[in-house]
Order: sequence, then C-alpha cells, then structure tokens
Amino acid sequence: MIPLAVPMVGAAEAEAAAGVVLSGWLTQGPEVAAFEAEFAALVGAPHACAVSNCTVALHLALLALGVGQGDEVVTVSHTFIASANAIRQCGATPVFVDILPGTFTMDPGAVAAAITPRTRAILCVHQMGMPCDLAALLPIARAHGLPLIEDAACAIGSEIHLDGRWQRIGAPHGDIACFSLHPRKVLTVGDGGVITTRNLEWDRLFRLWRQHGMSVPDAARHQSTRVVVEDYPTTGFNYRLTDVQAAIGRQQLKRLPWIIERRRDLADNYRALLAGIPGVRPPEEPPWARSNWQSYCVRLPRGSDQRAVMQAMLDRQIATRRGIMCIHMEPAYADLPQRAPLPASEQARDQSLLLPLFPQMTAEMQAEVVTSLREVLL
Ligand SMILES: *Cc1c(COP(=O)(O)O)cnc(C)c1O
Repeated sequence: MIPLAVPMVGAAEAEAAAGVVLSGWLTQGPEVAAFEAEFAALVGAPHACAVSNCTVALHLALLALGVGQGDEVVTVSHTFIASANAIRQCGATPVFVDILPGTFTMDPGAVAAAITPRTRAILCVHQMGMPCDLAALLPIARAHGLPLIEDAACAIGSEIHLDGRWQRIGAPHGDIACFSLHPRKVLTVGDGGVITTRNLEWDRLFRLWRQHGMSVPDAARHQSTRVVVEDYPTTGFNYRLTDVQAAIGRQQLKRLPWIIERRRDLADNYRALLAGIPGVRPPEEPPWARSNWQSYCVRLPRGSDQRAVMQAMLDRQIATRRGIMCIHMEPAYADLPQRAPLPASEQARDQSLLLPLFPQMTAEMQAEVVTSLREVLL
C-alpha cells in the first residue's frame, strides 16, 4: 500500500519526548519557550506563540484583531473547514471569494468586490503549502484599512519572493500567521499550532488567552523567589501546547531543511513523470513562490470521473484524496447566503486529485503512482 502521507518522525522525537517526561515539567515550561524561539528564528518572525492547534491559533488571531459578532471576514471556501469555523467561533461571518485555478490560492482580483462596511479582516490561505499572491493581497488590505491574517497551516518552510529576496512564510508578511503541526502537515507534534506576529501587544494577548487569561505565566511563577499571586484580567481559554509536544517540535524543526528538499525533489519528479499522461495538469508554481508541497494536487483530464479514478487507484493499493473541500458546499454552511458563484473552487474540488507525497517515498513508489494513474485514466 502507498499511503497519501507519512509523518517524518523517529527516534530523535521519541527520545526528546521521553526526556521531558523524565524531567517532571510537562507543560508551559522550558521546551515550549525554546521551541517558540527556534520557530520564530526559522520563519524570521519577532514573536511566535505555541498553542494547541492551528484552529485555535486562527481563533486567537481573529480575536486580537477585534473580530466579533456581526463582523465579516473575507476568505476562501476552497480550504479546510477550520479556516471558516474559526471565523464563526468569533461570532463573525465568512465571506467566500474564489481561487486562482492554477495555484488553488485566493484570487486577489475577487477580494475588493467582497469587502463591505462590515468587513473586519482578510484571511488568506497558503493552500497545500503554495504561498498566496501576497504582493497583490497586501496592497488591497492596506487600501481598505483591513488587517491580513495568513492561514499558513500547511506552509512551514514555504517561501515567497518579496522586496527583492526569498523569505519564508510566517515573518509574517500580513499581520498574523497561523501554522499547524498536525500529522497531515509537513512538521508534526501530534497536534499543535504556532501564531507569529510582529506585534508585541498581540503576542502578549495570545499568551494571556492560551492560559485561561492568567496574568503570570507558570515559568515566571516557578522561577520567582518571591511569592507571586496571579490575577485574571480577561476571559481566556486553555489553548496550551505541552512541553512533550514542544520537545518533539524542536526535533522536527531540525529535520525541516531535509524534508523540504525531499518534497521539492519529489514534486519535480512528479512534474516530469506526469508530462507523459495526456490531459493531466500538475499544479502551477509562480516564479515568485517556492512551495513546500504539503500536498501535490493534479487536475484530471476533462470528463474524468474523480471517484472512479480514486477507487481504481485504491484497488491498485494507492491512496489518493479528492481536491480540497469547498466549505460553502458543506451542510454546516448551507445556511450561509452565497454572494458570488465560486466556479474555480468547485471545479478544483471535483476535478483534481491529491497524489501521495512524503519524504520517505522512493522513486519506485512514485513511478508506480504515475504508471497506475496512466492506466486508470486510459
Ligand atoms: C489543517 C488546516 C487547519 C487546521 O489545523 P489544525 O492544527 O488541525 O487545527 C486550518 N487551515 C488549513 C488551511 C489547514 O490545512
């Protein structure tokens, strides 16, 4: 069986986790602090705050920007449902715009028309690790006085060429970026998330909110030689990352350069191999973007039966997935009035296929995937 994805974890992560267990300090301790510092340095961000997952990272990002009841947030439907759920969690309404069919990312040309007096923020998604066109989105956000949140759940290690140089996603280039550390992403700690920002005050709020609104972090109280009594200036949440996860995360960060190199080699190889199948289109990578290829999504030839192709691949022991979901087509969002048609999003969902891609994948496995796809499509 060739699976869709396999997390790149091993003895280094197991030993790091064991070390934390034996240390006796299991959450909000030195490993979380070290992981945050290393993560911030890696993406070039002044501040990185570790939380339980990317969904709560998005929730806190929206709260920091003051998104609340009655507000609207412009985002894409063609994304994992968590992007919109986080908006609803704030009492706000997602307003969906279409995507660019080549890269599966937010169409900057559609954003201005979706902005109303109730719009409070723009939430773009670096879908499957492919950077959004930030050079186009940032001026639109600025022109309307709106903050830009980057859903970078899939985009650790992805790069964008801006201001004359290559930069990692997460600096952030918008106001706040949110990452996921779920096993389906490029790095994982089981479940985890990171929020990056240049704004010290927002970073302070994230730290307050993730820990029940408690004014004194555990580490500060632990290290104090004087009695410290905390207070609770605001209503918070329990959105903590544990030290066990953070220790695993530090090992994952060390692996990142190798993982990215492998994934890019595999993507290049797919592109070359797929050129031999008529009608199959590989994903586009604009000259200003370098994806981490969290997922590899190909367009099927016109008229292909997506489900039948997936079943035939599965019968050949190869896992695939349909293209990214469309939130507006899910029952949970059926009550949301649809303001504009989203043809590119719907086509991407129904006419594309995710192929297996993971660092441990061999050239033989890749050849088998492409040979099978060719046979299935004939
Ligand atoms: C995976 C994903 C999320 C949710 O991440 P969790 O860490 O599972 O909460 C959010 N947005 C996008 C685009 C994702 O792919």
